[in-house]
Amino acid sequence: MLQQTQVATVIDYYNRWMQKWPTLQALAAASLEEVNELWAGLGYYSRGKRLQEAARKVVSELAGRMPRTAEDLQRLLPGVGRYTAGAIASISFGQATGVVDGNVIRVLCRLRCIGADTSSLAVIDCLWNMANTLVDRSRPGDFNQALMELGATVCTPKSPLCGECPVKEHCHAWRRVEKELASASQKLFGKTTLVPDVEDYGTGDCLLCLPAAELWDSSLGVTNFPRKAAKKQPRVERTATCVLERRGHLGVPEYLIVQRPSSGLLAGLWEFPSFPLAPGLQEEQQKEVLADHLQAWTRQPVQTQSLCFVGEVVHIFSHIHQTYVVYSLCLDGDLVLDAASSPSRWVTEEEFRASAVSTAMKKVLKAREAQRGAQSSRGKGSKRKRESKLGAAGSTPTGIQLSLRAFLQAQTTP
Ligand code: SF4
Repeated sequence: MLQQTQVATVIDYYNRWMQKWPTLQALAAASLEEVNELWAGLGYYSRGKRLQEAARKVVSELAGRMPRTAEDLQRLLPGVGRYTAGAIASISFGQATGVVDGNVIRVLCRLRCIGADTSSLAVIDCLWNMANTLVDRSRPGDFNQALMELGATVCTPKSPLCGECPVKEHCHAWRRVEKELASASQKLFGKTTLVPDVEDYGTGDCLLCLPAAELWDSSLGVTNFPRKAAKKQPRVERTATCVLERRGHLGVPEYLIVQRPSSGLLAGLWEFPSFPLAPGLQEEQQKEVLADHLQAWTRQPVQTQSLCFVGEVVHIFSHIHQTYVVYSLCLDGDLVLDAASSPSRWVTEEEFRASAVSTAMKKVLKAREAQRGAQSSRGKGSKRKRESKLGAAGSTPTGIQLSLRAFLQAQTTP
């Protein structure tokens, strides 16, 4: 749960998870739907899915026994990578094996002045070798947790507390800063400068040093290390999303949600009907695409005029910059959907929030509710104006929302 997610966010989820599934057996018996419901809002949904798949594997294929070494954990359990395997094996089973997470990368790169791109194979191998060599043989779990904690609390990304650091005597980055300070003060008093070490210079050939073009920046001190990996630009995607709604019991609004496929992004989660948009489409074209998709899906004619533009909702996934172009469509009754289409159901707002829906879809609903609020206050305002003009007897219906049924009737009229 803590991968890419802050502790404060995770605590509630963790407690609810452990309360609901306190054992591997209990988790193995859960459905993906239940897992997604509990995980809703935490993001990176494949983590929950894989946790549950791993529990199932342990229960059904490994006789309920967790693998106990990093190698077996990584080999046998879905979703368990090198870091997770090392952490479980050392902390839970006492195996003398290292861990390398973001905090450990920072500490080790500073300890050994590793300035090359941390996503390069040479650096990754070097860091894992260091972690496996350094790990304390008698208390590997404590050592690994201490190293991660050192990175989280002392050797922090922007303002490391080198003066208080328990390993500063072993730290090459700190030594280098000290040497620079000494050299600067000698200069101040007119003395000759200290001769720098060969390791103070990046050669450009070394796979671990700072590259020659980006040598040490004095103003950064120890934070010259680690060198940030070049960020990959997220993929830009646009999706047309339709909030299909109807009046349910006692006039309470209900929304149609459909389930996503059981693999891929947001696997098994529920969403408003959504369809991919090609880049560069104008608003009218977007509406046409959405109407066509809805038409194919419902097997009923849908006209573009019936789609009411709500707005654009942007959501950033780790690797995708996603824009949802949101429309709403009010219906009079139920829809008979194509039997081959994904599972779907009508939900009230309350049921929607309790369902396994992503944060992005919650934003979409919020946008639709804000629009409805604005429409209703506009409606009240114009009604008041008309009443004052015409008097009570002259009132007229306000803002009629064309319904799908009305369009169907209009379509079938010769
Ligand atoms: Fe990090 Fe500073 Fe400690 Fe080196 S001395 S490990 S840079 S906190």
